[in-house]
Amino acid sequence: MNKVKAAVLRKRGGPLKIESLEMEGPRDDEVLVRIVASGICHTDIDFCDYWDKADGPLVLGHEGAGVVEQVGAKVNGVRRGDHVVLSYQSCGRCGQCRSGHPTDCERFYEANFGFARLDGSNALYRSGVRGHFFGQSSFATHSLATERNLVKVSKRLNLEILSPLGCGLQTGAGTVMNSLKVTKGASIAIFGTGAVGLAAAMAARIVGADPIIGVDIRPKRLKLALELGATHVIDNRRHKVASLIADITGNGVDYVVETTANQKMHALAIDVLNPHGTVALLTGESGTALPQGRRTVGIIQGDAVPQLFIPKLIALYKAGLFPFDRLVKLYDFGKINAAIADAKAGDTIKPVLRISEARVREGKGDAN
Ligand SMILES: [Zn+2]
Ligand SMILES: [Zn+2]
Repeated sequence: MNKVKAAVLRKRGGPLKIESLEMEGPRDDEVLVRIVASGICHTDIDFCDYWDKADGPLVLGHEGAGVVEQVGAKVNGVRRGDHVVLSYQSCGRCGQCRSGHPTDCERFYEANFGFARLDGSNALYRSGVRGHFFGQSSFATHSLATERNLVKVSKRLNLEILSPLGCGLQTGAGTVMNSLKVTKGASIAIFGTGAVGLAAAMAARIVGADPIIGVDIRPKRLKLALELGATHVIDNRRHKVASLIADITGNGVDYVVETTANQKMHALAIDVLNPHGTVALLTGESGTALPQGRRTVGIIQGDAVPQLFIPKLIALYKAGLFPFDRLVKLYDFGKINAAIADAKAGDTIKPVLRISEARVREGKGDAN
């Protein structure tokens, strides 16, 4: 058993309270990661806001980054002292996992939202709290991950900045690059310019999409969207989105990336498509067929295999093409509730909690 500190949710809407908990040590296939930083994603906030008494106390957080502290006997890919970014969990055994599509894992729901290991056990049981959210529950000083949901990264990079790669940024960029496979000259509209939407805009610029139209209700975000890749932006509180998109494109866009989960925006997304256009829904809905060649597709985590896609995003970041650090605002772990409030208010695009020091603590096995 390890003593850890974690932000525990015990009440709908929070606040999260930092408590001392007992956590089991890593099993043979597990990796104990000391969390350096964790992004806060809207899925965490939704779980706070829809929490129910029957859920019991939970530890959220699924954009962790940290330093490997201990590995189970069967873990070969990482060792103590390695820096890692954590991502979503998958079973590794089903047909989808085996064919390289772990985002469509048959046990995706259990593995990420089951608040338990896939065998039903829970490493925080002694404290009467459930963890394993996305195979990590990173609003904590320590996480139990597996090799399937961690990605080894260079020790020269700042883990605080890297942490949101594991969900929001991967989702936005992966939707454009992996799922939709947007190509040079394709037209794309991005509804909602939060972290996911801005990652999509940066990716759209990288692949050469044109025009790239950002739609939001917050002028500050739209300004940032223009700086990060959008060729046009529309404030949909002040302007008619459909007619402006028609003016810009002639007959509608090839793609809409819909990140807002707002029914009106969903309907609008279909309205602004050209006859063979596609709406990507990133909000857990599944796809449907529409008149002519139009369609909507439900996309999870940008169809990304984290061990392949996150290093690609890091390479693009280092080349100056994916400057996602501009979305990040750092908060001390103890300010987690303020960070959530700022994200909800739209004041902060990507809050990242600083949980511990990145430097490796003294001790054996910390070479290089
Ligand atoms: Zn997320
Ligand atoms: Zn699977």
